[in-house]
Amino acid sequence: MSDYKWIDHTFDVVVVGAGGSGLRAALGAAQAGLKTACISKVFPTRSHTVAAQGGIAASLGNMENGDDWRWHMFDTVKGSDWLGDQDSIEYLVRHAPDAVYELEHWGMPFSRTDEGKIYQRPFGGHTTEFGEGPPVQRTCAAADRTGHAMLHTLYGQSLRHDVEFFIEHFAMDLIMDDDGSCRGVTTWQLDNGEMHRFRAQRVILATGGYGRAYFSCTSAHTCTGDGNAMVLRAGLPLQDMEFVQFHPTGIYGSGCLITEGARGEGGYLTNSQGERFMERYAPTYKDLASRDVVSRCMTMEVREGRGVGDENDHIFLHLDHLDPKVLQARLPGISESARVFAGVDVTKEPIPVIPTVHYNMGGIPTNYHGEVLTKKGDDPDAVVPGLMAVGEAACVSVHGANRLGSNSLIDLVVFGRAAGLRCGDVLEANARQAELPAYAGTNSLDRLDHYRNKKGGTPTSQLRLQMQKAMQANCAVFRTGEVLEEGVAKITECYTGMPDLDVKDQSLIWNTDLVETLELDNLIGQAAVTVNGAANRKESRGAHAREDFSERDDKEWMKHTLAWCDDKGNVKIDYRPVHEYTMSDDIEYIKPKARVY
Ligand SMILES: Cc1cc2nc3c(=O)[nH]c(=O)nc-3n(C[C@H](O)[C@H](O)[C@H](O)COP(=O)(O)OP(=O)(O)OC[C@H]3O[C@@H](n4cnc5c(N)ncnc54)[C@H](O)[C@@H]3O)c2cc1C
Repeated sequence: MSDYKWIDHTFDVVVVGAGGSGLRAALGAAQAGLKTACISKVFPTRSHTVAAQGGIAASLGNMENGDDWRWHMFDTVKGSDWLGDQDSIEYLVRHAPDAVYELEHWGMPFSRTDEGKIYQRPFGGHTTEFGEGPPVQRTCAAADRTGHAMLHTLYGQSLRHDVEFFIEHFAMDLIMDDDGSCRGVTTWQLDNGEMHRFRAQRVILATGGYGRAYFSCTSAHTCTGDGNAMVLRAGLPLQDMEFVQFHPTGIYGSGCLITEGARGEGGYLTNSQGERFMERYAPTYKDLASRDVVSRCMTMEVREGRGVGDENDHIFLHLDHLDPKVLQARLPGISESARVFAGVDVTKEPIPVIPTVHYNMGGIPTNYHGEVLTKKGDDPDAVVPGLMAVGEAACVSVHGANRLGSNSLIDLVVFGRAAGLRCGDVLEANARQAELPAYAGTNSLDRLDHYRNKKGGTPTSQLRLQMQKAMQANCAVFRTGEVLEEGVAKITECYTGMPDLDVKDQSLIWNTDLVETLELDNLIGQAAVTVNGAANRKESRGAHAREDFSERDDKEWMKHTLAWCDDKGNVKIDYRPVHEYTMSDDIEYIKPKARVY
């Protein structure tokens, strides 16, 4: 191996990821007086959170119909199809209003009502009166650029509180001790080729989702779930990875997102007969049923021959009946996206859309303090010392089998804040840390060097495409045992292609070829646990719809999947119980019932 040299750092807390969740966690740790580093492979304000459009859910009750955190809790539990942990869900919805006011006080430029309050719009699955009343306006918005406003606000505050940033550092692996505790993380500095070891009392993974395991997704090219993969390589499990959310309205062809806020503002879907078909499937909430439901209905319309376009393979989204002034004020960003990516003037024509991979409900199992969990002997909730996770990378689990729109941004700030508070509670600033084990980081360098010197016959982009197409074809909106087993075989075949990869660039400076190869290595493990988990779960729940097991089966399957994966793609599966209890006595456990909208 060439001689790589380590540059060593010591912090109290190291956060990997500078999206909404990572920035909020880093800010919280710094506020608590802890020496905090935040590492990001892209400039912080380029994290995928910047692309969030529609808004952030909190029961402020600023609009007609009022609101109540209990209603938000009910909707989130029902949206999760009873796979969410209700203690965590209570924590989320109760802290949501304060988390939004905190953002407001930090200067986040929310849209306003005429009275000057934070503007809130309707979003799918958000209702009143425990699902019995009319839709609620719960989603706080900064036009259709909410994530942009939020991320810039949080970055400014993090700088104010002296978080130390390590930008364009690619985190490679966790540093784990012999006793299974996390001691730090290794990075490769992309602009000068240096290798770094960060030692910390706590590492917080905030590395986002892995949408790029699929061919068509709404998320950025950087969404490769690197933190999830580090956890798998550390021999720890990921949870509920079979639950992948398809957003109903990705632009046909490009995958670019049209926010659910478009339907919140009155947009609706039609098939080739010009029919508003959602009225047939979800008579009460129609186009504002939850995402898994709308995506399935659209897929059914296309399958039954009522798709639009030359190949009858997509659906129309209409905004052309709305007042152009409303479009200008509330949906300027998507009006532009529709023009650029579909050549459509939304004031005159419908937008061609198709369900597109959007969000990963699964991820690193944690409790509501953000501490990572694993199963140890009989204890399904054993805390992994030194390791935490927040944001889309984590599975708290508040979204269960299906996330409600606008519940992710709130998850980022509520649990980012919780993780910061936890660090403040349990850590002592500048506490002495034991030396790292002598071998610390060797695994990272071995892996980097292995791929850096790959001289096979397959470009990384080719094998990645093969994996993405397999996931798109064999692990999508509707699933059967046969199709999923074929998917498992296809991903195994991708694994056999890894030794033949060809990396052309051997430099350590701005080597995108090597970065993408490490990202592919990260993605493929997540593809394996996703498709294996889906083949294993013999029921339909939330985003996981099996045609051969079309009912939800609470008796057998109301449990979290835990999945481990070795470096050959062999997946081992076990389970954790769903938390069938709430956090406080203020609300009772919400019992499972049929999910109709
Ligand atoms: C187009 C779009 C629109 C959306 N709209 C909404 C919405 O309106 N409301 C809502 O609630 N949700 C929305 N979502 C979902 C939500 O935006 C995401 O779930 C959320 O922003 C994820 O935030 P995060 O902090 O977990 O990670 P991200 O924002 O994805 O950030 C990940 C961070 O990790 C860093 N990172 C990753 N790997 C490495 C590595 N190896 N080394 C160093 N750093 C690394 C990255 O640099 C980045 O800083 C939307 C998602 C998309 C894709």
